[in-house]
Amino acid sequence: MGGGPAGAILSLLLARAKIPVTLLEAHEDFDRDFRGDTIHPSVLEIMYELGLAERLHSLRHSKIHTATFMTPTGPITVADFRRLKTRFPYIMMLPQAEFLEFITEEAKRYENFRLVMGASVQELIKEDGMIRGVRYRAHDGWHEVRATLTVGADGRSSRVRRLAGFELVKTSPPMDVLWFRIERKAYDPEGVLARFGRGHALVMLDRLDQWQIAYVILKGTYQQIHAAGLGELRRSIAEMIPEMALRLDALQDWKQVSVLSVESSRVKQWYLPGLLLIGDAAHVMSPIGGVGINYAIQDAVAAANILSEPLKQHRVELSDLKRVQREREWPTRIIQKIQALAQEQVIAAALRSNQTLRLPFLARLLLKIPFLRNIPARIMAFGFRPVHVKKELQNA
Ligand SMILES: Cc1cc2nc3c(=O)[nH]c(=O)nc-3n(C[C@H](O)[C@H](O)[C@H](O)COP(=O)(O)OP(=O)(O)OC[C@H]3O[C@@H](n4cnc5c(N)ncnc54)[C@H](O)[C@@H]3O)c2cc1C
Repeated sequence: MGGGPAGAILSLLLARAKIPVTLLEAHEDFDRDFRGDTIHPSVLEIMYELGLAERLHSLRHSKIHTATFMTPTGPITVADFRRLKTRFPYIMMLPQAEFLEFITEEAKRYENFRLVMGASVQELIKEDGMIRGVRYRAHDGWHEVRATLTVGADGRSSRVRRLAGFELVKTSPPMDVLWFRIERKAYDPEGVLARFGRGHALVMLDRLDQWQIAYVILKGTYQQIHAAGLGELRRSIAEMIPEMALRLDALQDWKQVSVLSVESSRVKQWYLPGLLLIGDAAHVMSPIGGVGINYAIQDAVAAANILSEPLKQHRVELSDLKRVQREREWPTRIIQKIQALAQEQVIAAALRSNQTLRLPFLARLLLKIPFLRNIPARIMAFGFRPVHVKKELQNA
């Protein structure tokens, strides 16, 4: 369930392994709300292993080579991907809808793959203590899919997670994000721009003809910002991007601004008999470092590596599902801990004190020592324990 990065990649890998797979996606197309356009080096390596990297690069995209924050006291580069040992030393920026279309088009080459768009999963089929499939509603009524294994890859508000009664461990990130778009001109810089003002922070993501802007606010302050008015919001943003101030005039209605409640959570157990959760359904990722897509795809690859053989034999044991969680849980927990630290110690600290961004002493030291300074770039690019497609699936 769910045609996001996790569901699309898992379906492709299982289809390549000749396993009958049905992918149910609630939306009619992949052009959903903005969910990030980043394709990290680890995912590019996976695309390379599948023989898809070259074709993916033929789609119109841009590249991010460094993660640099502009502050009133000068730039701070926290990650330089060019120094990493990888075939792809950059983050590729590609509209996610195009990435998902690319992956599902590739999966459609296998006749054992079926994609149903506009299929909203509503119920789990439970029999003899096992999940045996789902019931979904489409424009032509109710349908049922029965399966050896049901995978919930239905994102941060996962219905499957709720229906199955999984217990969620939540943390409380101290920030929320206001999202909106402005025009991007051909002469603008490429990739990502991150600006910190005094008490404000802004991240701008290159979407080719538009900038997707994340204006970071302290959790719970949206009402206050709304009450101060759009004019005040435009003024505060213009202070950070004076060169684009005129373009902010296009921001005339609060309807153009959506509020994202930043969340970070994970389920304690990722599986039940006949059911597995992966991606945001298993662990909602904070947008810090933009690693959610990366992690969702790595979950999918780990699941395909471990489960393709049991699935071929129509026998997926609880121990197989447990192995998927064992492989992916600790990398997720570590990255969530690092995100929590960055949110609290760096971003929220800067927003609360009305000061500009200042990295803690240890982080500044880390970025100065030659053999240590690549660590942040490596973590952003690969996460912990990057997953590779197993040989049998690479050659399928
Ligand atoms: C505003 C925002 C910006 C982000 N920016 C970035 C970024 O720059 N880089 C990054 O790496 N991560 C980013 N993330 C996080 C990233 O989007 C997620 O971590 C990632 O998309 C998770 O992938 P997924 O496949 O698990 O879930 P999703 O991408 O959420 O996909 C879930 C899919 O399931 C479908 N679905 C939901 N319910 C049902 C149902 N009942 N039946 C059928 N289908 C259903 C949805 O329509 C959706 O297509 C961002 C998140 C948000 C909210």
